Amino acid sequence: MATSIARYWRETPRRYNLGGNRCQNCRTVYFPPRSVCPSCSVHRQSLGKFEPFQLSGEGEVHSFTVVHDPAEGFDMQVPYVLALVRTPEGPTLTGQVVDVAPEEVRIGLPVRATFRKLREEGPAGVIHYGYKFTPTGAPASVRPAGVRPDPPPAPGATGTARA
Ligand SMILES: [Zn+2]
Repeated sequence: MATSIARYWRETPRRYNLGGNRCQNCRTVYFPPRSVCPSCSVHRQSLGKFEPFQLSGEGEVHSFTVVHDPAEGFDMQVPYVLALVRTPEGPTLTGQVVDVAPEEVRIGLPVRATFRKLREEGPAGVIHYGYKFTPTGAPASVRPAGVRPDPPPAPGATGTARA
C-alpha cells in the first residue's frame, strides 16, 4: 500500500498549478484534466463539454504514509509524509505534506496546496516545481493552552451568528 502510493507519486508528471476541468454534463471535476468523462461516456454526453476548472487547493488528508527512503534528486529530508488529499471539488491529490512533524499528520487534517521546489536536475540546475501541502490550522501542540480557535458569541450578542 505505502509503496504503491510512493511509486504513483514519483511517476505522475509534476503540475505547475491545479488546473483541472469539469464535465458540463454531470459537473464532475477532474485533475489532471480529462477529455472523456467516465461517468457520462456510455452515452457520449460529455464529448466536447469540458470546461477549465481551477481547484482551490484546499483539502484534507484522506490517507498518508511516512516515507523513509528519499527519491533520488528530490530536495526533501526524510522521513517525509506522502498523502492522498481529498478536495472539496472531488479529485483526490497526491503530494508531500510539509511544515508539520510526521507524527502530527492524521486522517482528516485540513491542508492547503502550496507551490514548492521539488528537485534540481543536472549541471544546468533545472528546477522543478510542484505542489506540496501545508496544514491550514496550527497543530494542537503549538496552540496556546486555554485559547479556543473559534469562541462562541457572547450571550445576548447582537448581529448574525455564523453557524
Ligand atoms: Zn460527466
